[in-house]
Amino acid sequence: MDIISRAEWGARPPESRSTVPWSKRTVFMGHYSAASATQTPRQIQDYHMRVRGWSDIGYNFLINSITGDLFEGRGWNVLGAHCEGHNTESIGVCIIGKDQAGKQDVSDAARRAFKWLYDEANDRKGKRLTLLGHRDRGNTTCPGNEIYAWLKAGLPLVGSTPAPQPKPPAAGRPAPGTPIAFPLPAGWYFGPASGPDYSVSGLHERYFQGRTDRAWLREWATQLSRRGWSIGKGQRWLGGAGNDGIYGSEYRALAEAFQRDQHLDVDGLIGKHTWDAAYRNPVR
Ligand SMILES: [Zn+2]
Repeated sequence: MDIISRAEWGARPPESRSTVPWSKRTVFMGHYSAASATQTPRQIQDYHMRVRGWSDIGYNFLINSITGDLFEGRGWNVLGAHCEGHNTESIGVCIIGKDQAGKQDVSDAARRAFKWLYDEANDRKGKRLTLLGHRDRGNTTCPGNEIYAWLKAGLPLVGSTPAPQPKPPAAGRPAPGTPIAFPLPAGWYFGPASGPDYSVSGLHERYFQGRTDRAWLREWATQLSRRGWSIGKGQRWLGGAGNDGIYGSEYRALAEAFQRDQHLDVDGLIGKHTWDAAYRNPVR
């Protein structure tokens, strides 16, 4: 996570500063600004320096309660001015924004930033810092009930599961039924009666592998209904004439829809590929 440096947010230089070694740091303290989340670190710094008369912005770090932007205040090793009598041992972190009873103002991004900074502090210290709210050491409601309860709970990141991964494409169920080999000679297909000899329509009752073309075409459409397609008189597909085994515009529309579903070449003719897909391809 990036910390927005003083130079990046346009901080005024401090009027004075004194440093604190890590050995004296024992507390990580949460604050809030109890004002608008649109407040900038520079505005807070101006207030602290001009109105309060401090040497610099009071906090060691600041976090925007909405965006989660993390700003350097005085930084890790400079004595802060955020909790009277406890600035040496405490690293003070202000969540910029208000806290209204019963309403969550602190975004998941801001919570993640706070938690990240706390973990970072513990790493730098080489030991766990005590997590406190300002009210634990001062006569104040700071950091507000919402943040305080969250600190006391140990900074749980409930809403912070990483962005959901795109689901892998469904593998699909295996095709139902027993595969039936394409019954027409190689290169032939079920298609319109107006086509060439190898366009088998069902209209002339020709025999292939011991059954009529009409029976075979019905067989293929029946396999689609096993796959979940709504097929037959009054149904979504073949709704007019039903599954009568005579190739026409209804079978063409069904074949095209199935070919589209299976990412096959869409020509509306039922050749070996389209036939086999009904028996062998998984149902998506
Ligand atoms: Zn405070």
